[in-house]
Amino acid sequence: MTTNSTKRACGGCTLCCFTYDVRDDGKQITRSFDWCTHCDIGLGCKIHETTQPSVCAQWLCAWRDGLGSDDERPDKTGVVPEWRYTRQGKTLVLIGSTSDSLESDYARNLTKTYAKRRVPIIHMHPDGRKYFVYEQDVLVDADVAMSAKREKVGILFVDTTAS
Ligand code: SF4
Ligand code: SF4
Repeated sequence: MTTNSTKRACGGCTLCCFTYDVRDDGKQITRSFDWCTHCDIGLGCKIHETTQPSVCAQWLCAWRDGLGSDDERPDKTGVVPEWRYTRQGKTLVLIGSTSDSLESDYARNLTKTYAKRRVPIIHMHPDGRKYFVYEQDVLVDADVAMSAKREKVGILFVDTTAS
């Protein structure tokens, strides 16, 4: 999606042009979990040289910023990872492109690794399900529990001791 220089290049990945809701100057460019009509899937943005929204040009996923290994490119894992600042602080958001992407070994291992480090994690599924994810023995902050209830976000606990 992006053009700025980072640790990795998108290469043949265009997955965030499917997972993201993009608005530019108040105009809806594309909705999440629907391919943007400007996307040449697996090749890039057709309007990259002309009218690509600045939000697309500036945004980058966590894989491009160095997360994981080279072969865990989002189009291969089916998961777009993103660092986002939320009320819980720097949060790892994993966006699954299919109903079972977040059940994969890749997503499970990434979730366990960061849950162990007590990094806030959010899982987002294409059917609208959203979860705050924690290590099994974490006591969830009351404010987070309240906002989860209000925003209809589930809370998941992962067993970080299981292989
Ligand atoms: S998900 Fe990451 S690697 Fe894939 S197109 Fe978007 S920014 Fe590039
Ligand atoms: S405008 Fe281009 S970069 Fe932005 S979502 Fe659409 S295809 Fe992707």
